[in-house]
Amino acid sequence: MTLKSKNAVITGSTSGIGLAIARALAKEGANVVINGLGDAAEIEETRAAIESEFGVKALYSPANMLKADEIADMIHQAEKTLGSVDILVNNAGIQFVSPVEEFPIEKWDQILAINLSSAFHAIRAAVPGMKARRWGRIINTASAHSLVASPFKSAYVAAKHGIAGLTKTVALEVATHGITINCISPGYVWTPLVENQIPDTMKARGLTKEQVINDVLLEAQPTKQFVTVDQVAALAVFLCSDAASQMTGTNLSMDGGWTAK
Ligand code: NAD
Repeated sequence: MTLKSKNAVITGSTSGIGLAIARALAKEGANVVINGLGDAAEIEETRAAIESEFGVKALYSPANMLKADEIADMIHQAEKTLGSVDILVNNAGIQFVSPVEEFPIEKWDQILAINLSSAFHAIRAAVPGMKARRWGRIINTASAHSLVASPFKSAYVAAKHGIAGLTKTVALEVATHGITINCISPGYVWTPLVENQIPDTMKARGLTKEQVINDVLLEAQPTKQFVTVDQVAALAVFLCSDAASQMTGTNLSMDGGWTAK
């Protein structure tokens, strides 16, 4: 167990990639704060399962990633309850698919807030403690869409390019403080986020479900396979290890070759 006595906050970890990262960090001995939306009973089940399977503390924060004050409170509460926030994974994200001229303004604002600004607010709150302890690991879940674009995803692509820039900037600021910050940029990972965008993509492009999966999603990925949440989580664990202490400001692709094209 490489992360024993470390404390981690993972945003958007009630499902998908975030949950896999939370479970993988817990497996390495880290106490975790999970966060996200969902059914209260299911979230409690998820939280309790992490504690019993991995023998760590697992807390739940209901902080809404749309709200700066709730994000800062989540970090400060974790520091108070666990003693520190050593690892911060900014992972919460939503998607919306629409031609730019019809893109709902409130969806643009929500995507920029959840997929980009929430990471800024969490980093801003967590960095002072990491600097004081001279150790920190920040991981941002970006996307292949932090490097390339797809049509009808203007807000998502803008936010993900933004998070890659935020990552590089903070890396330079904290480089001498024992803190690293990197992005993981997955291609298509089979999670509710991908499954839920299929109906809108069918509408926007006039395609069947099978056509969206094979001709739009997996079309982008030369391996013709979805990335798994456990593969993303394994990279996050590696980024927290001593072996990765000289990796900072990077944008690591895990996209089946998508951005090699
Ligand atoms: P998901 O829908 O399974 O999980 C998203 C998480 O964010 C959930 O826990 C949800 O409750 C939480 N969330 C959403 N809005 C929130 C809010 N206002 N406040 C707090 N939490 C909120 O999706 P996922 O596929 O696991 O996505 C996780 C991250 O990975 C996102 O940043 C996404 O952009 C990124 N990503 C996903 C893929 C993919 O193919 N699935 C590819 C590249 C990047």
